[in-house]
Formats: sequence, structure tokens, C-alpha cells
Amino acid sequence: MSSLLPVAEALGRILAGARSAAQVVERPLIDALGLVLGENVVSPVAVPGEDNSAMDGYALRAADAGSPMPVSQRITAGGGMAPLAPGTAARIFTGAPVPPGADIVVMQEACREEGGRVSVVGPVAAGQNIRPRGQDIAEGAPVLSRGRILRPQDLGLLASVGRDTVQVYRPLRVAVLATGDELVEPGRGALQPGQGYNSNRFTLAGLLRALRLELVDGGIVADDAQATAAALQGAAAGADCVITSGGVSVGEEDHVRAQVQRLGRLDLWKLAIKPGKPLAFGHIGDTPFIGLPGNPTSVFVTFCLIARPFLLRLQGAADEELAPPGLTVRAAFAVERPGTRQEYLRVTVADNGDGPEARLFPNQSSGVLSSVSYSNALAVIPPGTTVAPGDGVDVLLLDTLC
Ligand code: AMP
Ligand code: MG
Repeated sequence: MSSLLPVAEALGRILAGARSAAQVVERPLIDALGLVLGENVVSPVAVPGEDNSAMDGYALRAADAGSPMPVSQRITAGGGMAPLAPGTAARIFTGAPVPPGADIVVMQEACREEGGRVSVVGPVAAGQNIRPRGQDIAEGAPVLSRGRILRPQDLGLLASVGRDTVQVYRPLRVAVLATGDELVEPGRGALQPGQGYNSNRFTLAGLLRALRLELVDGGIVADDAQATAAALQGAAAGADCVITSGGVSVGEEDHVRAQVQRLGRLDLWKLAIKPGKPLAFGHIGDTPFIGLPGNPTSVFVTFCLIARPFLLRLQGAADEELAPPGLTVRAAFAVERPGTRQEYLRVTVADNGDGPEARLFPNQSSGVLSSVSYSNALAVIPPGTTVAPGDGVDVLLLDTLC
């Protein structure tokens, strides 16, 4: 047991050796969702570009609010305006520029207009309802930094400072190979006894797509030393990283590790993680290699915990993008026997009226992929820990992992 590497140590070692391999390319902003920003963006403009009104109402000088005023102009969003004539008010609409000379906007519900004159009936406070120039982004201010994974709101933010293209890292190519003589591609007919569908290919394709990485689909590799070597070599030649599933355990039919050692080097093997203990990491020639276990739930968990941060680092993502934020919620379950490995239990976090709690999926077997589909989080149980109902447990929401 002592030979099992703790998860944090394994991840630290894997990340320490990761060299960002991605080139910077220019892309239309509209297509940049999920890509990693390859430049530090500074705003050439202030947003908003001038003081503007947060309300439909009247722009005036606060000092004039005590008596009725003539309405001297009408200012619409996108329209022109003149400086405010002293002792007058301007009819103004949301988003329209506040005229020089006015220092407040009074919302129309707090005004009465009659015969071309407006009286303020509500209280006024200096600066009210004016959105000052640059309150969102100042001219020359940093907007987003290199290494940021672009979210939908980031695309809007970049557009708001006038960008329609953006420098991003070109998506890396990741080869995926599924090992196992028992595997059959779905759609290729009914299963014979002992066979199973190649579900890992689809889980991994989805996980890679969610990271906007390019999938190089290597299909199924037979449990045979020569076939494994040839597939690994071919995959490494055509990709920036090779990911396999299965064939990294201790059986005679597990050929992946031995062939990686022959073609390159194995950097580490066997983590103190459950599910997913037999994970292997190494290089085929110079190409990084991640050998995920075969069990479908182990594939999901080890990809999210180990492969995802590694791939993001290769892709140029910033440190803060690598580890998803965890949160602590009440356990609605017990872990009575402390484990020797860090466990990632499939749970559903829900709030039934008295704060969020994590409910355990009843079958935690690493072969039960429905445990992932029917859950929304992983509860992280460190080695040597017991949990009683009501205790706080750390959870990682699946939406933040993939
Ligand atoms: P292995 O690590 O190769 O011994 O595989 C462990 C378990 O995972 C076995 O029950 C395999 O049938 C299953 N498994 C391996 N690869 C896949 C795959 N691509 N899709 C679904 N199940 C798999
Ligand atoms: Mg196998």
C-alpha cells in the first residue's frame, strides 16, 4: 500500500513536468468559447464611453431640484445632446449620455411633467442614476489575462471593448485508445457473451470536447503486445498527448505499461485514489501518455482529477483554471471504515429546504457508470477519514469538472 502515490503528490509531479505545447492563433471572437486566451487583453476604450443614464427620467442639477424647471432637450440612447442649459432639465432615457452640467438623473416615477415643466417629487442624492464613464472597464485597464478559459460572458466582455477577433491557443490533439479484446463499438450488432460496448471512447470524447481539445480517435486496441506497441507509436506520432483506457493493471493481458516502458518511459503508476488506482503516466518518445484504468467510472474520475488539469496546463491554461472550486456540504451518508486511498464518492448535492446536503449514490462500484450520470458531484473523502451523517464533506460539482 505504501507504494501508492497520494493524489496531490502525483498531480504535483505530473504538472511539474508539463510543458505548454500550444501555439497562439487568431480566431473570430464568436468561435472562441472554451478556448484558452493566448494574450493579455488591455482595453483601448472606457466602458461605458461616457456618463450615461441608468434610468428613464430627467437629467438636471441637484441644486435645481427644489422648483419646477423647463424641459430643454430630449436625449435618447444613441442620439445627440447639448450641454444642459442652467435652470432646466433634460428628458433622458436609459443608456443615453448625461449632458455636461447635469449631476443627477431623477427617475420618471419621481417626477411630474406638466406643460413643458418638470417638478421633482421624490428625494434626490448626488450622482444618482448616473453610470459613470469607465465604471465597467477603464481605458487602458487589463480586461482578461493569458491563460483564461473563455466563458460566454468573457466573449461579451471582449466585444464590449471592441474586439471581434482574439488570440487563443490552438487546440491540442489528444489521441484516445481503448484497450480490451472484450470491447465492441456500439452500432456493430449484439454482444456475444463476455463482450461489452466501448463506452470509454464516448466518455473521453465528450470530456475532451468539453475542454475544446481535438480528439484523435484511435478506436479499440487488442490485448496483445505488438498491437499495443503499434497503436501507441502511431498515436504518439499524430497527437500532442496519448490517453488510453484499460490494460494498465497487473494481469497478463494488461500490455500498456510494458509497451510504454519499451517506447519511452513510465513516470508513475498506481495512485492512492478510489476509483482509479492503476492510473499510469509517462511518455512515448516525447509525447506525454496517460494510461487511465479500464473501469468506466474510474475513467471519468481519473480524467477529471488528473488528466484534465494536465491537459489544461499543456493547453496554456492559467493555474487558477486547473483546480475546480470545491465546497463543503453536509453529508447525508456515513463512511464507517476509513480507507487507505482518497475516495471520490458519487453523490447528489441538493437543498431540500435546510441547506445543501450530499446524498450517496447507492452503488459505488467502479464499473457502475450510471453512478456518475445519476449524480452531480464527487464527495472527496481523504484517506483515514470516517464520515458520520451531518458531518461536512468537500464536494466537487461535476459541472465544474467537465
Ligand atoms: P482493464 O483495466 O482493462 O482490466 O478493464 C477493467 C474493466 O473495465 C473491465 O471490466 C473492462 O471490460 C472494462 N473496460 C475496459 N475498457 C472499457 C471500455 N473502453 N469501455 C467500457 N468498459 C471498459
Ligand atoms: Mg482490459
